[in-house]
Amino acid sequence: MFCTNCGSQLDDRAVICPHCGVPTNNYYRPVQPAQQPAQPAEGFNQQMPAPAQQPAQSKPVNAFAIVGLVLGISGIWLSVLFGIVSIIGLIFSIVGLNKAAKMNSGRGLAIGGLVTSIIGIAIWAIYWAAVILSRATVYF
Ligand SMILES: [Zn+2]
Repeated sequence: MFCTNCGSQLDDRAVICPHCGVPTNNYYRPVQPAQQPAQPAEGFNQQMPAPAQQPAQSKPVNAFAIVGLVLGISGIWLSVLFGIVSIIGLIFSIVGLNKAAKMNSGRGLAIGGLVTSIIGIAIWAIYWAAVILSRATVYF
């Protein structure tokens, strides 16, 4: 090809003319985005081929919201002994909620994590408050 500015013969892959420094048509060509096939979760959907008609819409995964919800639910069951699980779940849920606003994803998960974490912390606090109070009455 030839330079559009000075007419020099150029390599077809040239991005900028070495003679006059003017960008060639290659310079303006949009960069091809790397095609990344969505990797299904391990063992998931392995037998089911993705529906061809549906456009691949990769919604960002709000990992913090998911972790927050999992820890929040686990925290309810573990709360009596491991209140820390609910506290970590609460932290993840708050971060997940912040990310949900930016990513437009996982808002419901983050709120679920928030609620379950608070319930876990409440159970934990009430239980240990009851334990401490009952011991206090023993000593007095
Ligand atoms: Zn040129």
